[in-house]
Amino acid sequence: MKKVSYKELGLVNTRKMFAKAVKGGYAIPAFNFNTMEQMQAIVQAAVETKSPVIMQVSKGARKYANPTILRYMAQGAVEYAKELGCKKPQIVLHLDHGDSFETCKSCIDMGFSSVMIDGSSLPFKDNIKLTKKVVAYAHKFDVTVEAELGVLAGVEDEVAAEESHYTKPEEVIEFATKTGCDSLAISIGTSHGAYKFKPEQCTRDKKTGKLIPPPLAFDVLKAIEKKLPGFPIVLHGSSSVPQDEVDTINKFGGKLPDAVGIPEEQLRKAAKSAVCKINIDSDSRLAMTAAVRKYFAENPGHFDPRQYLGPARESMKKMYIHKIVKVLGSNNKL
Ligand SMILES: [Zn+2]
Repeated sequence: MKKVSYKELGLVNTRKMFAKAVKGGYAIPAFNFNTMEQMQAIVQAAVETKSPVIMQVSKGARKYANPTILRYMAQGAVEYAKELGCKKPQIVLHLDHGDSFETCKSCIDMGFSSVMIDGSSLPFKDNIKLTKKVVAYAHKFDVTVEAELGVLAGVEDEVAAEESHYTKPEEVIEFATKTGCDSLAISIGTSHGAYKFKPEQCTRDKKTGKLIPPPLAFDVLKAIEKKLPGFPIVLHGSSSVPQDEVDTINKFGGKLPDAVGIPEEQLRKAAKSAVCKINIDSDSRLAMTAAVRKYFAENPGHFDPRQYLGPARESMKKMYIHKIVKVLGSNNKL
């Protein structure tokens, strides 16, 4: 496959977008996607709310979609946004959790405008070394780089961490300076997946029996902001796992007991700080699955994918718009 710059595809990197978001006290949505319907819903939501948006794929999602198809999907997303009436779409194609220099390089060569190198499981010095190498290559092509310090709990594709470790504020200056990264993902208690906390970490609502998760470590976030004023901070694992979607899934044959996420008030609070990118993946999966399960239960005779993926797309779009307007505040920011 011939190399291509993201600029030829009409995409943008995260630099200006993040600077504006930090100043303006809001966060850019980073929605993971694997399918055409998710991509369409993301673009429709971003255009309707006049929001910049990051479409991101993990290494596994990239393999699932195929890198060549992905490149044209990203280009298609930009053209689709224009067709929907957005004159200057601000769309980023971002690699989520890049695991090696080679994966990041391959994405940069194939039209990504932003990559994450996740060296958070490595010793501090090795994380710096790897991140620096990716930054050196990426910046040659004006591609922005997200790095990570601290470990999140939960499952991200094949990467699973048993225990989380909060980011150490005393390490962030050295890390940011030595690596030259453009943004930093931190660990303050968010977690990957739809089961973000074990029941024993939570309290239980006496009336509904639903789990109430422990609060995020805002003191750690504050300490990091103090060390790196104005530096773009990223929150991973920030789905809120809407209980109405979980209930719909369970009502129509699913089995997701005790699925729990990050309350939206906490994300709202984070978005007002130096947190300028909030990653949301599970909520889209839940919205899609709930809509499909409901559709099949109510229409057992139907088998045309458009019949059940159409409502799924609508449901995801509604969720994306809600996040943009009611949680992240990135609407009307183009
Ligand atoms: Zn993540």
